[in-house]
Amino acid sequence: MDISTTSGGDQLGFNSRAIHAGQEPDPLTGSVIVPIYQTSTFKQDGVGGLRGGYEYSRSGNPTRTALEECLAALEGGARGLAFASGLAAEDILLRTLCAPGDHLLLPDDAYGGTYRLISRVLTRWGLEFSTVAMHDSAAVAAAVRPNTRVIWVETPTNPLLNIVDIAALAEISRQHQAMLVVDNTFASSYLQQPLALGADVVVHSTTKYLGGHSDVVGGAVVTRDAEIGEQVAFHQNAVGAVSGPFDDWLVLRGIKTLGVRMDRHCSNAEQIVRFLGEHPAVSSVLYPGLPNHPNHDVAARQMAGFGGMVSFRMRAGEEAALKVCGLTQLFTLGESLGGVESLIEHPGRMTHASVAGSPLEVPGDLIRLSVGIENIEDLLADLNAALA
Ligand SMILES: *Cc1c(COP(=O)(O)O)cnc(C)c1O
Repeated sequence: MDISTTSGGDQLGFNSRAIHAGQEPDPLTGSVIVPIYQTSTFKQDGVGGLRGGYEYSRSGNPTRTALEECLAALEGGARGLAFASGLAAEDILLRTLCAPGDHLLLPDDAYGGTYRLISRVLTRWGLEFSTVAMHDSAAVAAAVRPNTRVIWVETPTNPLLNIVDIAALAEISRQHQAMLVVDNTFASSYLQQPLALGADVVVHSTTKYLGGHSDVVGGAVVTRDAEIGEQVAFHQNAVGAVSGPFDDWLVLRGIKTLGVRMDRHCSNAEQIVRFLGEHPAVSSVLYPGLPNHPNHDVAARQMAGFGGMVSFRMRAGEEAALKVCGLTQLFTLGESLGGVESLIEHPGRMTHASVAGSPLEVPGDLIRLSVGIENIEDLLADLNAALA
């Protein structure tokens, strides 16, 4: 069986696809790992005589092709496309799906970079948008307009870890002939399969769990429909925000261990949630795996695990939260998420500082953890010391 041709098929399990899809041994040398084709152009055997279908690396590069086929296979989509960053992927996707004058529905707690792209860049191009509490399906249905072209979903959300019912929104999208786009960055393809739940398109910041090692910035789009995939591919080449071969190779390498990493991220997170829930300095823990999470039942239905992101609030307020962020040793103080190393941050002053004073403002006593895959005893000891 030629694994590279089974993109979107379900013949192989997730981890097998992660390791093999799009990654046949190199036909020329037998190299087991896809080489980094660090070249801008390709020799032609006579005018128009392309050896492997490649002519110029903006239009296509074999390392990128391997990643794109792997991404499509992981999400069960018809077409995968790789970009220079998650935001580049979003920009090209939205300018493919929408025309000036179209309307987009955005979560009222969208990733800040997505909000900035739409509210400050794409509105100048003529896109209209409004925000809605995406976890409230009735509110979403009421917010759809005749010119709504895209419903944009993130789940779990950042940093409050709200859960949105993808299947319910897919139904609303279908009724209104809109496209449902799911930003699957926080859950990763391993824990959540939006296309199988009825979404039309998945986007990723591969910078996070797919890359998984905090050493690359990248983005991805996976479409359910081949024709829409072809349109995104046209824009990818026309606009040009492609990922480079070395970055593609890093993401491919990261994806091979996505399943085992996510299993550990989840189990470490669950133990940290239990520890924080019993700690007197902590007033509440936000985690979709908790039975008291408002949408725990939806999370249990649509996720294979509850993920590695944990947020919690300090009983003593903002100063206490800032202090904890400065005291951890193993949890590194920093933005971003999804790497093997644990990170801690204060959303109010860091990732979400730009929404202070707006309805999207997050509580000052909130701390966000990206739980890594270190030994759980060490992570718990670090938090225990910082909270003491
Ligand atoms: C980081 C992130 C993005 C943006 O991706 P970049 O690779 O930083 O451009 C988009 N959505 C979510 C949920 C993210 O966490």
